[in-house]
Amino acid sequence: MKTGLAVAACLVAAALACAGPATERSAGDAPEAPDMNTLAQQYVRLVLALGQHDADYVDAYYGPPEWKPAGDKRPLADIDREAATLEGQLAAAPAAGDELEVLRHRYLTQQLASLRTRVAMLSGARLTFDQESKALYDAVAPTSNQRVFERVIAKLEGTLPGSGPLADRYEKFRSRYAIPKGKLDATFRAAIDGCRTKTLAHLTLPPNESFTVEYVTGKSWSGYNWYQGNHRSLIQVNTDLPIMIDRAVDLACHEGYPGHHVYNALLEQHLVRERGWMEYSVYALFSPQSLIAEGTANYGVEVAFPPAERLKFEREVIFPAAGLDPAGAEAYYEVKRLVDQLSYAGNEAARNYIDGKTDAKGAADMLVAWGLYSRPRAEQRVRFIDQYRSYVINYNLGQDLVKAYVERLAGTGDEARRWQAFSGLLSSPRLPSGLSAQ
Ligand SMILES: [Zn+2]
Repeated sequence: MKTGLAVAACLVAAALACAGPATERSAGDAPEAPDMNTLAQQYVRLVLALGQHDADYVDAYYGPPEWKPAGDKRPLADIDREAATLEGQLAAAPAAGDELEVLRHRYLTQQLASLRTRVAMLSGARLTFDQESKALYDAVAPTSNQRVFERVIAKLEGTLPGSGPLADRYEKFRSRYAIPKGKLDATFRAAIDGCRTKTLAHLTLPPNESFTVEYVTGKSWSGYNWYQGNHRSLIQVNTDLPIMIDRAVDLACHEGYPGHHVYNALLEQHLVRERGWMEYSVYALFSPQSLIAEGTANYGVEVAFPPAERLKFEREVIFPAAGLDPAGAEAYYEVKRLVDQLSYAGNEAARNYIDGKTDAKGAADMLVAWGLYSRPRAEQRVRFIDQYRSYVINYNLGQDLVKAYVERLAGTGDEARRWQAFSGLLSSPRLPSGLSAQ
């Protein structure tokens, strides 16, 4: 199916090259290609049209309301045909200008290819987990050997007190660190204040930026940032399952500062408002942009709070806000450091599940055995995989790619340089494959 689409794209591109778009031509001139802003507007309209078929596809849109489709859904084949035409026009208009303009051209090309993959999937194409992540997110997660997880699990066996199955001991250990429901909002707000203060010390944000927080239930995710435009976000926190103390700072940084809220606000400020690049006013969830978004949001936790500072902040501010004993902070973060090393077990469970090598129960079993998920969390995660499929790689692989990119530019010791490299990535249209290319 993918190959077939690529051939179709070439045919359409060739046909276009013959026909040529008609804009301000005079006799004898070669046909003039539409400019990037015209192509960008067509891309936005295509993303919005695809959103009529796929409720999760348009994560954010704050461009002109009249660009939203009115009336019946456009057939998927029509959307694909127009996307192929756009690809041809982009290919015929080589990138020119400063570095950001070159990145813009590459980015739009890759976003369009990704859109066509999503159209193919909604039309019935079946891709493997790795084919899908490459085509949608411009990245493939490495395959992890079970022995990697077993080594970490052996260390945890020696660290977690008690006897019985390790997953049960881990759950018992964690349960002592749950944020009481009545303290959730105060704890979360203390975490947001801390993350915002750290971020504002290094980044200049639009003066009117702000967000609101809501607590919700019945979702497959634990937190979500819905970017509203005009430098504002709505952040939702899912309270279906107990929320452990580490989630306060993790969620506040990931969804807020310097994560999704800051990323979206800087893109709006620098690319949409200053340059008029309207393609950034729409955020297609199943696209390469999501690897950068999730990767920067996850790595942003460490940028804002390197481990020693994190522990100090937890002891002095977050544990007291939640009414927990700060004396337990160090042991909790030592265990978390080890459990975080099991995160790629989630990719393996999703890969096996999407590729039909196991069923939902088997995937949940794998999350429990290799990733130390509790049974309810594993079941919630399988529901997430059902809804978002290979999107799972955007979190851990995204974080690792972003971290490697920033450290290559800034080294590891200088905080100001690290923030500078990180904020450069937040404000530019870089692709996942471009993170390792330089
Ligand atoms: Zn996220």
